[in-house]
Amino acid sequence: MSPTTARVTSVDTYDIRFPTSRELDGSDAMNPDPDYSAAYVVLRTDAADAPEGHGFAFTIGRGNDVQVAAIEALRGQVLGRSVDALCADPASLYRDLTGDSQLRWLGPEKGVAHMAVGAVVNAVWDLAARRARKPLWRLLADAEPEWLVEQADFRYLTDVLTPGDALDLLRRGRKGADERRARLLERGYPAYTTSPGWLGYDDAKLTRLARRAVADGFTQIKLKVGADLDDDIRRCRTARAAVGPDIRLALDANQRWDVPEAIRWTTALAAFDPYWIEEPTSPDDILGHAAIRRAVAPVKVATGEHAQNRVVVKQLLQAGAIDVLQLDAARVGGVNENLAILLLAARFGVPVCPHAGGVGLCELVQHLAMFDYLAVSGTTDDRVIEYVDHLHEHFLDPVVVRDGHYTAPAAPGFSAALRPESIARYTYPGGTFWAADLAERTRKEQAV
Ligand SMILES: [Mg+2]
Repeated sequence: MSPTTARVTSVDTYDIRFPTSRELDGSDAMNPDPDYSAAYVVLRTDAADAPEGHGFAFTIGRGNDVQVAAIEALRGQVLGRSVDALCADPASLYRDLTGDSQLRWLGPEKGVAHMAVGAVVNAVWDLAARRARKPLWRLLADAEPEWLVEQADFRYLTDVLTPGDALDLLRRGRKGADERRARLLERGYPAYTTSPGWLGYDDAKLTRLARRAVADGFTQIKLKVGADLDDDIRRCRTARAAVGPDIRLALDANQRWDVPEAIRWTTALAAFDPYWIEEPTSPDDILGHAAIRRAVAPVKVATGEHAQNRVVVKQLLQAGAIDVLQLDAARVGGVNENLAILLLAARFGVPVCPHAGGVGLCELVQHLAMFDYLAVSGTTDDRVIEYVDHLHEHFLDPVVVRDGHYTAPAAPGFSAALRPESIARYTYPGGTFWAADLAERTRKEQAV
């Protein structure tokens, strides 16, 4: 591509909230009434070829305005940057954002501030992939191993993974990539579904949706657990009866338990042959996960969607605390940090089954899993991407799941862009949906 003088000309943010709490979609033991939300950012440029990059952090309602403010705090670092330089080396921006000496105090590298970095960095990768006219998975899989190593963040990791180790992994990972790409394009990447198992659904709805999942080609479903043990025993029995013995049944406690309770509860559900127990306790409790894993085997322990950065992931792996790593595309510092996380998982031989659902997390994370298959781990054995079948209609390039598999996206970019009409409707509080909702609530209050 010939060099240009294009710059980032604006960094626009949006507080987007969907009223999912009204149907109990997304309900679990810790989050009974989530309104799935996106703190959304658009980098606009004056480049003729690829004017925009889109990114977001996922939140579940209140506090999405705080997340938006954290993204806005990064604006000055991004405005005016050369589009050529950003796209050639997204790591340069990643390092500047994570290294901002004043904002760093708000983390370092965790929580709202770090998720803001992730949103902006992912927007840059969206821009870079659009500019290269490739879906992101393909841009990454086609890249030279040396360049990928430059893009991954090895800081605080070199006791277990050096850039040299990573280069070896990536060079080895390329072998057979052409055949795998052909298979990916033909078959897609395996998925599992969480849609049947939200905690707020009754048994009839659970049964209906679990049966439909099997008919739709899924070989694994997931149930939310952790609010009430008797209910969970009944729901696990119901789900197992609906899907039969051969479908994997994953359980997700969303951090509900202390370590002894996690062991007791998981043991009590073991009769239903669960495949994994997810987020059994605090996402920060590395040694607690290790103790749970030792106690509940052969039930596997899975976590990672709330792992705040690569250092926590490193320790989960070092401590033998997990069987399955559930990286999240939008919680850590974007693609640069997730490259390091994928390489860490490969180094330890632990399968990555990405967290998705939410708003747009399926859209994002499919690219990382497909890259992992083509260029890092080289396999989809015991690997599945989470799938939840809501809110995709708001995206310009929504995921396509067929016969239990994600179809490889073909459109250039990171699949992050929301439809303009969805932004106009669900911007909080001024979008058309929320303005009408607020007016209705005010009217009802005045009538009382
Ligand atoms: Mg989960």
